[in-house]
Amino acid sequence: MSLIQSDQPEKWQQSLADLITDPKELLDFLQLDSQLIKLGCVASAQFPLRVPRLFAERMEKGNRHDPLLRQVWPDLAEQTLDPARSQDPLQEARFNPIPGLLHKYQGRVLLTATPNCAIHCRYCFRRHFDYKSNTPGREHWREALDYVAQDSSINEVILSGGDPLVASDSYLKWLLSALDAIPHISSLRIHTRLPIVIPERISHELRQFFNTLNSQLIIVVHCNHANELDNQVKSTLRMLARDGHLLLNQSVLLREVNDDLASLVALSRALFASRVLPYYLHLPDAVVGTGHFDVSEAEGMHLIEELQDSLPGYLVPTLVREEPGKPGKTRLA
Ligand SMILES: *Cc1c(COP(=O)(O)O)cnc(C)c1O
Ligand code: SF4
Repeated sequence: MSLIQSDQPEKWQQSLADLITDPKELLDFLQLDSQLIKLGCVASAQFPLRVPRLFAERMEKGNRHDPLLRQVWPDLAEQTLDPARSQDPLQEARFNPIPGLLHKYQGRVLLTATPNCAIHCRYCFRRHFDYKSNTPGREHWREALDYVAQDSSINEVILSGGDPLVASDSYLKWLLSALDAIPHISSLRIHTRLPIVIPERISHELRQFFNTLNSQLIIVVHCNHANELDNQVKSTLRMLARDGHLLLNQSVLLREVNDDLASLVALSRALFASRVLPYYLHLPDAVVGTGHFDVSEAEGMHLIEELQDSLPGYLVPTLVREEPGKPGKTRLA
């Protein structure tokens, strides 16, 4: 019987195979006027709609301005062409010494572990990134692993993507174990939205594997709004914290999603209730097609000042912007 079961996709894999990809289906599910479709479909052709059902269930029915919907809805505004916006605003192509590896900052390298994401976030700065050519197969990871092994100034490896937790257990075990075995690596960091958007991904088996790692595991979830943290997500995150991993959040400051004091306070409090500390609050990057999410630096700074008056220091994220050629993220407040 166990043999048969092992051939079955796990529950999270079924959820991943059953995403909402049709704008009309999402509108129907949310009981929204299907006339809105006209405003959506063009953008979806370039960067397809992708929404896990568990995430859609947290959206408010009948509210076309829902902050979770806004993060995933292919809006007509994405078609706005602005010559000041780039397809590679961080000039990452320059810091790509070997496929799949970015070495921009001292002491840490970033591996683009998988091309895919469970959710497509419309503001994503990687939406134009050429993942396919940048995601080596196992045989090609040898080069990246050698690079890390040969540079003892690197003590942290960051798995990013795409979303690394979209990969299978066997692939993750292979890659993380290989990195964990490098003597100068003391932390492994995973940037992922999966614990938020498909919490079933944090299976018993994956947790058991995480617990075998010698390195400190840091899980950075990407959560932009308190409504993303329902009870299932909260208990999943608490479990990971009880396992001894460090849980941090990074969010993007997004127009009409979380660009007001009440939303940011609620987000920090909900994260804390899930044993997650706020880490970075990013100003949106100047990527083609995302101008409708822009919040200015001045507005960002003002919001941080207000947050400092409302919350303990450990619940105030650091406002950052990424600029090409800098030795780290630029801290604004
Ligand atoms: C953001 C980022 C990091 C990590 O920076 P921290 O300040 O340590 O969170 C590392 N490498 C790249 C390429 C990055 O974009
Ligand atoms: S999960 Fe992350 S990488 Fe994927 S679309 Fe969203 S923001 Fe971009």
